[in-house]
Amino acid sequence: MRITIFGTGYVGLVTGTCLAEVGNHVVCVDVDEAKIACLQRGEVPFFEPGLAALIRRNSAEGRLRFTTEAAEGVAHGRLQFIAVGTPPAEDGSADLGHVLAVAQSIAEHMADPKIVVNKSTVPVGSADRVRACISAELQRRGADIDFDVVSNPEFLKEGAAVDDFMKPDRVIVGTGRQASAELLRQLYAPFNRNHDRLIMMDVRSAELTKYAANAMLATKISFMNELANIADRVDADIERVRIGIGADPRIGYDFIYPGAGYGGSCFPKDVKALVRTAYDMDYAPQLLQAVEDVNERQQGYLYSRIQAHFAGELAGLTFALWGLAFKPNTEDMREAPSRRLIESLWAAGASVRAFDPKAAGEARRIYGERSDLVLCSKLEDALDGADALVIVTEWNVFRSPDFESMRTRLKRPVIFDGRNLYEPRPVAALGFTYYAVGRPLDS
Ligand code: NAD
Repeated sequence: MRITIFGTGYVGLVTGTCLAEVGNHVVCVDVDEAKIACLQRGEVPFFEPGLAALIRRNSAEGRLRFTTEAAEGVAHGRLQFIAVGTPPAEDGSADLGHVLAVAQSIAEHMADPKIVVNKSTVPVGSADRVRACISAELQRRGADIDFDVVSNPEFLKEGAAVDDFMKPDRVIVGTGRQASAELLRQLYAPFNRNHDRLIMMDVRSAELTKYAANAMLATKISFMNELANIADRVDADIERVRIGIGADPRIGYDFIYPGAGYGGSCFPKDVKALVRTAYDMDYAPQLLQAVEDVNERQQGYLYSRIQAHFAGELAGLTFALWGLAFKPNTEDMREAPSRRLIESLWAAGASVRAFDPKAAGEARRIYGERSDLVLCSKLEDALDGADALVIVTEWNVFRSPDFESMRTRLKRPVIFDGRNLYEPRPVAALGFTYYAVGRPLDS
């Protein structure tokens, strides 16, 4: 099939590349000229495991092309995917500006029937807005061309995006038209051979399914963080509690890790947008509001522990930070808990020596060169002369460190672990003061 993808971010680039990998001819369009130039040179603008090799192979074999020309993209594909960002607006709602700009471009250039497939995460009713936008432009042009707008929300996870796309848990397709449903079924057939993972539904339900999934996952995290805060106060160990509750198959072990709060480009904005949708419909979403409030508080957890330990005297201190990305296996720092922590430490007059296996470049892009941020290329180097170590992201490489060497490199043997990577008692036995989330110091 001939496919066009608007947006070459995590979702668009992975979607386009994986669709090319199974034999489709794909054109990816982006308004970011630097990004497209980089892709045309065979370079990948961000780190995502396995993606670079796929892009190079499919580009070399002529199935994957990149352009900034919307007209070229619109002319190419019967299927026109929208995979652009939907950042939060002032009031928390999803900003549809980029989505509608793409709809407008499609409508301006289309000369034959199209199926517009929306992969961006958008509030219920957005397909109607895309449809209205295209109809209005076609009417203005005096063009009578058939089109459909399908909802096909994406569930890939950064850090495992290629695998998730190739072997999806499910593919949600929302459409009221049989012909569109059939075409999407054909498109996803190569990813659907093991068993039928395609779930067809109406457009609005498909749009809401994406928010429901992210809100449920965010709820699990906030629930565990709430429990961890209670464990802290009653001297119980949240890690034992986690293992105890996960054994119940109705609860399960997945996604019930306490930590430094959720971040990233999806959970914070999607929970906010769903809350906004509910209020707009005169419904007070108490649970979702609490999920967000708990997370907001949890993102301050490590900092308040640090403040308590140093009795509020942070000026002039240096903190080693392990982990900048919002989660492992990505360089993405959007709404990462590390950012809030770094900024709080700076505001208190402290400085930071940070190590992250992938996100140093992103941190440099966000913060520029500054004397109170040293980005280290080795994890040990971040420790040199620091007054404490703070672990913010659970990269594998942090799981089994050389504690002896850590103790000699740190000025003071103090660890604030926002991801519960170690067992408190053995670490304390090595001479560290070890703070974890929801765990007594000597558990
Ligand atoms: P991103 O910010 O990484 O990339 C968006 C891209 O769209 C950028 O390269 C931008 O230049 C481009 N763009 C903006 N306007 C454009 C236009 N008019 N024409 C062409 N390109 C344009 O975004 P992302 O992380 O890939 O997310 C895209 C959407 O998918 C969002 O709605 C997001 O919520 C959703 N989503 C993201 C993930 C994820 O893990 N990142 C997972 C599932 C769903």
